Amino acid sequence: MKQIKVSLKDIDPNGQTFQWDDQLIWSEPLLEFNLSCKIHEKITAEVFVLPEKEGCFFRGKIRGKVSQSCDRCTEETISSISADFDEFEACPQQILDDEEDIEELEDENRVIIVENGVTLIDFSALLWEEFILTLPTKPLCTKLCKGVCPQCGKNLNEGLCACEDEDKDPRMNVLRNLKIQ
Ligand SMILES: [Zn+2]
Ligand SMILES: [Zn+2]
Repeated sequence: MKQIKVSLKDIDPNGQTFQWDDQLIWSEPLLEFNLSCKIHEKITAEVFVLPEKEGCFFRGKIRGKVSQSCDRCTEETISSISADFDEFEACPQQILDDEEDIEELEDENRVIIVENGVTLIDFSALLWEEFILTLPTKPLCTKLCKGVCPQCGKNLNEGLCACEDEDKDPRMNVLRNLKIQ
């Protein structure tokens, strides 16, 4: 995963804004985690960081467009990414003072980490977490997507398949004979 780490002591104590338009921030982990999602239109991110006594406040936004497969018919589907977030992340030292335990904490996907005694902000972890939260889990090409026929696999948005007429399921006959009053 593309790493963007900034030492906490290099952050302006009054707050500082960072901007990124490097697509590797997204394309690398998308590949790494084998997600069927591609960048369709440049993804940009902006984060304002305000160091506090026990951690940092982050206010940020992520914008762009991704292409995924429709959850019903698998056709390519474009979704807008629009994440706005306000987060407080605690410094690991505030949680635990024991060095061993700090190492354990680093295994979790934390935003503020300690490496060789230096406290770092891992922006890549923050951005990826927010990106994943906003990514559609069941993208649809249209809200009315009819999906594919479970029997022949035809994309039903392109028209009906032959299966419907040949459906001999007796339970369906009951429904067919019902008249809507
Ligand atoms: Zn669809
Ligand atoms: Zn069919």
